[in-house]
Amino acid sequence: MPNPSNTPRPNDPPTANHAACTTPGVDPDLWFSDHPTDRTRAKRLCAGCPLLDPCRAYGLDTDQLWGVWGGLDRADRRRILRGVVCGTETALKIHRRYGERCTVCETAHDRRVETRRRQSLAAAHARGGTAASAQLHRKLGEPVCAPCRRAELAAEEARRRARGIPPRDARTGDGRTRGSGTPSVGAHTTAQAA
Ligand code: SF4
Ligand SMILES: [Zn+2]
Ligand SMILES: [Zn+2]
Repeated sequence: MPNPSNTPRPNDPPTANHAACTTPGVDPDLWFSDHPTDRTRAKRLCAGCPLLDPCRAYGLDTDQLWGVWGGLDRADRRRILRGVVCGTETALKIHRRYGERCTVCETAHDRRVETRRRQSLAAAHARGGTAASAQLHRKLGEPVCAPCRRAELAAEEARRRARGIPPRDARTGDGRTRGSGTPSVGAHTTAQAA
């Protein structure tokens, strides 16, 4: 938001006096803060500043290391100067380095991760399902298909066997062997008959 008392008339060239960052009551440290929230506030104020374009050009031309210039912080200038556009992994890494959130980059990243997971899942299904692909189903927020679940159970049983643990009981699913802990159907029937 520009300083209302200093807003230039239509044909006046803007000068430093018109800068939104010099508006009384506005903390000038916002433009040089390490905190992303402060920088976002500074950028919003820049958006209404009559000096936006020349200030942005100055920040880019002189490759300013610090501060928000014309609505761009250091990370924004880096991206522009390197020709990095939002939506790429490189742009996302730069955002993360500077503690920024970017919906465009994060959405694009999530889509790429999902595509990779679906490709891995399709390859695992072509092999009849695997324990790892059961996890992929869960990461994708969907139920585990029967072949993947079977592969997962088989892998779990193989691990139990390797450690000398008795096989999981197919009915109780808790690792108890038949006849252990609870009376068998036969013993129960016999006791009732006695
Ligand atoms: S555009 Fe430049 S002069 Fe205007 S508020 Fe932002 S930093 Fe200040
Ligand atoms: Zn981005
Ligand atoms: Zn599956």
